[in-house]
Amino acid sequence: MKNDSFRILTINAGSSSVKYSVFDTAANRQLVHSEIERVASVEEAMRRIPALLKEQGVTELNAIGHRVAHGGAKFREPQVIDSEVIKDIEDCVPLAPLHNPPALAGIKVASDAWPGVKQVAVFDTAFHQTIPERAFTYAVPDAWCKTGLRRYGFHGTSHKYVMMRVAEELKTPVTELRIISCHLGNGASVCAIERGVSVDNSMGMTSLEGLVMGTRSGDVDPGIFAYLKRTLGLTVEQIEDALYKESGLAALSGLGNDMRDIEKQAAEGNKKAQSAIQVYAYRARKYIGAYAAVMGGVDVIAFTGGIGENSASMRKRICERFDYLGLDFDEDKNVNVKLTDSEAPQIQRDNSRVRVIVTQTREQWMIAQETARILSLKQAPAETLPPIPVAVSAHHVHLTETAVEQLFGKGHVLHIRNQLSQPGFWAAEETVDVIGPRGEIKNVRVLGPCRPANQIEIAETEAFKLGVDAPVRLSGDTKGTPVVTLRGSAGSIQTEGLIVAKRHIHMNTKDAEARGLHHGDQVEVAMHGGDRELSFRNVVIRVDPRFVTEMHIDTDEANAGHIEHSGAGELTPAPGCTAHITHCHTPAGVAEQSCCLNDTKKKEAA
Ligand code: AMP
Repeated sequence: MKNDSFRILTINAGSSSVKYSVFDTAANRQLVHSEIERVASVEEAMRRIPALLKEQGVTELNAIGHRVAHGGAKFREPQVIDSEVIKDIEDCVPLAPLHNPPALAGIKVASDAWPGVKQVAVFDTAFHQTIPERAFTYAVPDAWCKTGLRRYGFHGTSHKYVMMRVAEELKTPVTELRIISCHLGNGASVCAIERGVSVDNSMGMTSLEGLVMGTRSGDVDPGIFAYLKRTLGLTVEQIEDALYKESGLAALSGLGNDMRDIEKQAAEGNKKAQSAIQVYAYRARKYIGAYAAVMGGVDVIAFTGGIGENSASMRKRICERFDYLGLDFDEDKNVNVKLTDSEAPQIQRDNSRVRVIVTQTREQWMIAQETARILSLKQAPAETLPPIPVAVSAHHVHLTETAVEQLFGKGHVLHIRNQLSQPGFWAAEETVDVIGPRGEIKNVRVLGPCRPANQIEIAETEAFKLGVDAPVRLSGDTKGTPVVTLRGSAGSIQTEGLIVAKRHIHMNTKDAEARGLHHGDQVEVAMHGGDRELSFRNVVIRVDPRFVTEMHIDTDEANAGHIEHSGAGELTPAPGCTAHITHCHTPAGVAEQSCCLNDTKKKEAA
């Protein structure tokens, strides 16, 4: 194999077929794509792959990437497979009894067939590990939750690809977009992606929840289990089986699960087919409305999957009456969508605030990319780089010059109390009271210099005290945040700008270069020095030549790690506490990869 070639076999082992592809990720080329259908067993299908690959001219592999449906709560990143990871995937079998066993069988046969070749598990659930607790929690007894019963979300590889493709098409970083990604295939789910992270997915603990699918029901009242037992004498297993295999479009239409047949019959007047289409579209529209509410609006609605890519009439039905969201749908553009490659056409009118984008999904390609990414991750040897100092940031406010005058009197200028560790920033002598609908926080320190917008940074526990829901945001990103009252010595104002600061590291350009990090990257950080050591995920890197390298956490985070801090209203270095970056997993990495999506696809097609 040539040095500039890196060949990755991707395996998607399902219960009725095994899909496999080979990509040369170094040359951005797809070499093989095939599917073995109606297999006697996954093992039998897998054992045929080495000979089939040989026929197609592939004799050597650098790595194998496996699609694994369920990674439970443990995995938010693909994993290099070893005995421990296999055990973890086995532990998730009760959560995905139909999907994880074939993946495990695929891994076993692949490790026998290609001994010594690194194998990576890419989890469908991993992209959704950023879903907040309020969205993933079922309101059921605690003992049930302790078994792992919660919402996880699926189709993560597809939704992540769609996010990247949309960002690339709009030439806008993922961190500036609120995307509702609709994967409408035989399985179907909607995903709310806020600023580069999944915040909700319509599939839940299993891939049964949410939208109407080919043969799966999507949402039903859990009360039907007892009802069907009493009325039809069905067992739990019979009901579960029917919800997976005999429901959805197939049940509604009585015509099977192929949307093409259903649309044809509906046009010819078949009432059940018409009803199936209406139920399908209604459920999807309902989720889109809900996710717009969850994210405080939507910038892009994206369609993918067999139905999303090909059914113009379904896209139109789903997008009906979204004018209140700022969507002006263009039916001409919609009916003219013909995807042949990696195009991502927009189907809204020019004046529409919300964009609607249609694109193919490329799960196998993503699995290859994720496999290559994990294997090439530069793990900076911690011992050769100095640890990063940690500072605890207590609640504080940044004010505009106008706000300073409204709060402290006309012509008032803030008085510098002490300099902060970042050059040019200081704590003022002035403080304000922050007042919410339920309570107030007194004597919150004002930091200077003045800014173009007011910003109030508190810890999440304090948001409960105020009685508001403060979003986790990066500093400066205050659009649409809750309004609170600020009271100063000379007056009060009402202002938006209440946030819980997203944890971040101010990093000097030289330190960032030494670690191979870029502005916007997200890293995992292990904290040392407290008596309850812990790791923080999704820590954002902010790079500037003027910065002093330092990680900032809030008081909740400091408390969680027993990290000592003193003083209030300013940034205080935590005595003896340092952090090591242990892992990089970044939207910026996504943005970098997304730059080459088009090139790659064109080469693949060639
Ligand atoms: P997938 O699982 O992504 O392959 O999607 C399969 C679904 O896409 C099936 O329900 C098909 O009926 C549907 N589909 C494929 N092509 C079309 C089309 N031209 N119009 C409507 N539905 C389609």
